[in-house]
Amino acid sequence: MTSSRRDQNRYYDRFKRDKGSKAFYRSTAWERAREQALIRDNHLCQHCIKRKRLTPADMVHHIKPLSEYPDLALVLENLLSLCNSCHNKEHGGRGEKVETSVATRRARFIVSRGNNEVF
Ligand SMILES: [Zn+2]
Ligand SMILES: [Zn+2]
Repeated sequence: MTSSRRDQNRYYDRFKRDKGSKAFYRSTAWERAREQALIRDNHLCQHCIKRKRLTPADMVHHIKPLSEYPDLALVLENLLSLCNSCHNKEHGGRGEKVETSVATRRARFIVSRGNNEVF
């Protein structure tokens, strides 16, 4: 059994040393984790959904910040799809621009992927 976990650790090490989240947000590993989170969340903002609003997610947020918990950087449970406005609130309005890497210019939203029953 190959351990993908060990592969991921290699990523963490590199990015920890890099100390930069920029490189991380450009990595394939992050692309994949982000995509998984979006699919799980139906590409919808998870805060808005709690208030019965359907807002397309603008980014995937790290519940525990990447800078403090690099080991959770790619853990699905630590990722949350959010819209810009909810994301700003999440960061106390200060806004962490780096995370805005979910293709801000995404032309179309993939809202339904056979998950129509969710609503
Ligand atoms: Zn929202
Ligand atoms: Zn965030």
